[in-house]
Amino acid sequence: MNQYKKEQILLSPPHMSGHEWKYIQQAIETNWIAPLGPNVDAFENEMASYLGVKDALAVNSGTAAIHLALSLCGVKKGDTVFCSTLTFVASANPILYQGAEPVFIDSEPETWNMSPEALEKAFREAVLSGKMPKAVIVVNLYGQSAKMEEILTICNQYNVPMVEDAAESLGSEYKGKKSGTFGKFGIFSFNGNKIITTSGGGMLVSNDTDAIQKARFLATQAKDSAPYYEHSKMGYNYRMSNILAGIGRGQFEVLEDRIKAKRLIFLKYYKELANLPGIHFMPELEDTLSNRWLTTLTIDDKLTGITSSEILKYFANKNIEARHVWKPLHLQPLFKGAKYYSHHEHQSISEALFMKGICLPSGSNIANQEQMRVIESLKKAMTQKVEMPHPISG
Ligand SMILES: *Cc1c(COP(=O)(O)O)cnc(C)c1O
Repeated sequence: MNQYKKEQILLSPPHMSGHEWKYIQQAIETNWIAPLGPNVDAFENEMASYLGVKDALAVNSGTAAIHLALSLCGVKKGDTVFCSTLTFVASANPILYQGAEPVFIDSEPETWNMSPEALEKAFREAVLSGKMPKAVIVVNLYGQSAKMEEILTICNQYNVPMVEDAAESLGSEYKGKKSGTFGKFGIFSFNGNKIITTSGGGMLVSNDTDAIQKARFLATQAKDSAPYYEHSKMGYNYRMSNILAGIGRGQFEVLEDRIKAKRLIFLKYYKELANLPGIHFMPELEDTLSNRWLTTLTIDDKLTGITSSEILKYFANKNIEARHVWKPLHLQPLFKGAKYYSHHEHQSISEALFMKGICLPSGSNIANQEQMRVIESLKKAMTQKVEMPHPISG
């Protein structure tokens, strides 16, 4: 019996810097607790200047930021929106909030993100059916940017705005330009597991200052400028509090350290595991820089003798938190019946990534010996399977 359980190694827990205190303290000392305030303004300005965009709006979640973006793209009931399929459900839920229908687009193998080929197919059929999408939501998975040039070329050709879901890719780059700055709107998340956190929060960014102004209005209950409470539009309560923006500013100070740490974690996993047969790490596209939010790899069970699910079970017994790659949204019961365009006619890249992919513990505060424990566990799981063959598929 194994009564003594080793301390749990988490997937990507929050990692406070200590700098958060000074901003929280200022907020409390000046009694500027909620909502809005100087930390919110400063956080927005700091993000905008770091990214090189004209304007930013701090909100209470990344999901809220996507919702505002879709609302400003004019997405309404009965419209369609194209969306990456291999992502967290939060990318697509706001499509449903607007009463619109998602159409899911497969991944391609070089970035695991939206396939320009599948996107092109979806657009060609949309033209034929006479129903064009109102927006395209492109996700940058686990820190890796999608093929922005190819995707933007297609979106521009059909004159449909792109919304970049950069919730996982803050600080990443594509051809020297910051992730989240390619579309009409970019969105970020500061949820607890993201590379920096406000405990919960998000940011909407754009070079269209008018659009951000409108988003600000909608996010603040769409209060008209009148001496009393007057409303002519439906709004939302989506703003970030001044306390949480303080946490965000303290976290933002160490973003570059966090990226460095995440990339080193990846490198260590890579050095220790990449030469094992059947293991392939998520690639980093040429001329891009991934923040390596989560180190992610695929397991080819024909070569490893063990499936991704079995490895996750093995990890769970060792008190190690690892996860499957996102289950594609076109396979979710929630989106049953939604249209889907795959990269190859008879082969879905996202489905294969889901079957084979796992995310390893990648917290920027993971200790060296903890990471070694993960590495040793994975190696052990594989050798045990090889020694004791087990009737797995094939
Ligand atoms: C985390 C995440 C979101 C949602 O962010 P919240 O702040 O949790 O609402 C959206 N898209 C992706 C890809 C995410 O990983």
